[in-house]
Amino acid sequence: MDYIKKYFEVFIPGTACNFHCHYCYLGQHGVSTNQRAQFNFTTETMRAAINRKRLGGSCFFNFCADGETMLEHRTLEFVKTVLEEGHYALIITNGTVSNRIDEVCGWPRELRNRLTIVFSFHYLELQRLGLTDTYFENINKIWDAGCSWFSSMVQCEEYITHYDEIKELFMSKVGVLPQLAKYRDDTSQEIRIKTDRPIEEYFDLGIKEFDSGIFKFEKESYMKKVSEFCYAGEWLLYLNLCTGEMRGCYGTKPLGNLFVNPKEKIKLHCVGNNCQLSYCYNGLSRMTMGVIPERKVNYYWWYRHRVTSEGRDTFSDYMKEATSKRLFETNTEYTDKEKKKKNKEYVRFNRDDSYFSRLTLRRVCSKVKKVLTISSNKK
Ligand code: SF4
Repeated sequence: MDYIKKYFEVFIPGTACNFHCHYCYLGQHGVSTNQRAQFNFTTETMRAAINRKRLGGSCFFNFCADGETMLEHRTLEFVKTVLEEGHYALIITNGTVSNRIDEVCGWPRELRNRLTIVFSFHYLELQRLGLTDTYFENINKIWDAGCSWFSSMVQCEEYITHYDEIKELFMSKVGVLPQLAKYRDDTSQEIRIKTDRPIEEYFDLGIKEFDSGIFKFEKESYMKKVSEFCYAGEWLLYLNLCTGEMRGCYGTKPLGNLFVNPKEKIKLHCVGNNCQLSYCYNGLSRMTMGVIPERKVNYYWWYRHRVTSEGRDTFSDYMKEATSKRLFETNTEYTDKEKKKKNKEYVRFNRDDSYFSRLTLRRVCSKVKKVLTISSNKK
């Protein structure tokens, strides 16, 4: 078994979508939903850039477009390339682009074994467009084809009133319940949850109704700042598939371009103890993959999979095994001395970045304040 050495969060900046969900973050930012992604590189250049030797082994690529991922044909082409090169892939889709689902089902078995599909469940849009049956038919096709999958539904008030019928629908069509995702307010700086309920009640309701492993994790980690050493920037990379630009994490300085000079060694800088976010709001993938060794959480598949009453699992044994070794087990951790050095390097690397300049200024001010306090106490 080739275990996973790096985790790529692949972002495709195309906004084209056949749905108009009220909670969509594109709408929150007032972005139109009909822009197709423009890819700057050929698939062959991309293939050369992601060979396992260059990346240090097999990697996991998580593909998500701003709009509907499967509407971007080039994306699917790249997913196939990634699988052919011996990596693992995940695609997030609304599950209604049937011709693309059929295309995936026609790929060789050894590629399908390494593929996971997340079927986002947008109940009101599926009902409005008459696509509910198509959604479940596509899940069953993917399941029969040997891919791993799970459904994910945003918990919002508009759906809570339909919880009984949603549960009945899932049990009758696929025999398992969907997982839940939090309703993010992407306009808030801290990426808070959009709800009028007390937070504890919000999570407990979803956990009680759907026994969602993902929601249990989210409840534990919501608004908890990460102070531990994070290997984002080395074991985890945030990649723009259209431009090839690579970052360590959201809002961090670009590390370079993965697709330009595909034969060159890639330069990496891990974030270390310098995470600036109020909490790791996409932490489920990151922590279950093992990007922060001190956060010992359960396996990636464990939080997502479901099993029917007949014992049929939505995750294949193959994917369960592949994600049963975390990044801190497949890579070598730094010693305390090396971590100090890496932290300094990261701050130096970001020195020109305005955020880090502000941070450094804050640190200097606080040191000056301390010195002044000590000297005035001495007097
Ligand atoms: S802890 Fe911070 S730097 Fe690390 S993955 Fe999470 S958000 Fe990114």
